[in-house]
Amino acid sequence: TGSKPDISREKSAELYEKAKNYFPGGVNSPVRAFKSVYGTPLFIQKGDGCFVWDADGNQFIDFCASWGPLILGHNNAKVREKVTEVMQNGMSFGAPTALENELAELIIKNNRFVEKIRFTSSGTEAVMSAIRLARGYTGRDKIIKFEGCYHGHTDSLLVKAGSGLVTFGETSSAGVPKSFAQETIVLPLNDTEALKQAFDQFKDQVAAVIIEGIPANNGLLMQDAAYIEFLQGICKENNALLIFDEVITGFRLGFEGAAAHYGVKPDIVTYGKIIGGGLPVGMYGASAEIMGHISPDGGVYQAGTLSGNPVAMAAGIAQLTELLRSGFYKDLNNKTSEFAESIQRFATARNYKIKVFYIGSIFWIAFTDKDKIQTAADIDHNSMEKFKVMHRELLNRGIYLGPSGYEVGFVSAAHTKIELEKAKRAIFDSLDVVFRN
Ligand code: PMP
Repeated sequence: TGSKPDISREKSAELYEKAKNYFPGGVNSPVRAFKSVYGTPLFIQKGDGCFVWDADGNQFIDFCASWGPLILGHNNAKVREKVTEVMQNGMSFGAPTALENELAELIIKNNRFVEKIRFTSSGTEAVMSAIRLARGYTGRDKIIKFEGCYHGHTDSLLVKAGSGLVTFGETSSAGVPKSFAQETIVLPLNDTEALKQAFDQFKDQVAAVIIEGIPANNGLLMQDAAYIEFLQGICKENNALLIFDEVITGFRLGFEGAAAHYGVKPDIVTYGKIIGGGLPVGMYGASAEIMGHISPDGGVYQAGTLSGNPVAMAAGIAQLTELLRSGFYKDLNNKTSEFAESIQRFATARNYKIKVFYIGSIFWIAFTDKDKIQTAADIDHNSMEKFKVMHRELLNRGIYLGPSGYEVGFVSAAHTKIELEKAKRAIFDSLDVVFRN
C-alpha cells in the first residue's frame, strides 16, 4: 500500500476563501484552520451517527466528535427530538424554566461530587467562574495550574511556565496583562517537589490548584493516582481548593468523570462539552457551602443571558439520560480499548514507534517509543511531522481526526464494530505510509 490520492476539497477551499474575508484565519476557533496539517480545512455539511460529510460530499468516520461533546454520535435521534420538542415553546426567556431543574437533578442525583451547580454557556465560562469562586471563597489571589493543561481562554489561564521550576507564569497570549499572569503559578505535571516548593514559596496565598481530570489537551497525559492523591493532600494542608476541570473527562470517563476514576473528591468541578449534547452548556459545581458564595446567595458575581437556555438544557437532558443506561460506559470503553490495543499490536509487530494511550473512550496516538508520557515536556514536537502525514492519509481513506497531533480522539456510542474495523484498517495503511517514507 502506498499514499492515497488526495480527496477533492474544491468546495471546502471555496468556502474557506470566503470565510477568510469574514473571520481571522477564516475560522471561529483557531485549531479548525488546519494550520498544523495538510490542506484547507474541511467545511462540514452534516453528521449522522459516527459519520460526517463535507461540502464536497466526502464521507468520513469521525473521531473528533465536535471535540468531545458528541458521545452518542452526530444527530442522535433522542437528542434531536427533545430539542425540537422544546424549541416549539420558544428559544430563551431569561427566566427560570423547569428544564434547568431537570438537568440539574439528573446530574446531582448521579454525582457524588457536586451538591449545587451553576450552568454557563461554555467550558471557558465554567472555569473562569470556578476560579473566581475559589478566590472569593478563600480570600486569596494566586492559582496554580499545570503546563500542558488547557482550561479555556480565560485571561488568568492563558499562561505558560516561566523559567525556573517554581515561578510566576508568563502570558501565552498577547492581550493578557503581565499582572494577571503574575497571579498564576505554572508547574510541571507529575512533580510533587514542584508542588511542595510552590506552596512553601507562596504560603497562604494560593486560592486553588486547577488540573484537568485527565490532561487531554496536549496529548493524553495520564497521571498516577498517587500523584492526584498527593495533590489533594497538599491542597488540604494549605487550605487551598482543588479544582478538577472535567470539561473533557466529565461524563466521558464515566458519569462522574475523573473524580470517580481516582476516587478523589475535588472542591470544585467544571463540566462542559458532553453536558450540553452538542449545544453550548458548561457547568461548575461544588458543595452547597462553597456554592453558597455565588451571587445572589453570596458575594461572588457570575451571570449569563443565555445560561440554562431551555433548548440547550433539553439537549443535555436527552444526552445524559442515555448515558445513565446500564452498561453504557462499559460497552463504549471496551470498544475503545479493543480499538486502541489492536492499533498498538499492529504497530508493535511492525516495529513502528507509536504508542496508543487511551482511557475510557479517549485515545491519543503518539509517535514515540516512550511507554509513558505524563508531562508536556515528554512530548517530542518533531514527531508532529509524522502526525501530519498520518492525518492526510486518514482523510484520504475516509477517517476524520482533529487537525492536530496534540489533540485526542473520541470514540462514540455510534461507532459500531464495522466502522471501527474500517477505521483500524485505514490507520494501519496510513501508518505504513508514515513509516515507509
Ligand atoms: N477546559 C478543558 C479541559 C477543555 O478541554 C476546554 C475546551 N477544549 C475548555 C476548558 C474550554 O471549553 P470551551 O471551549 O467550551 O470554552
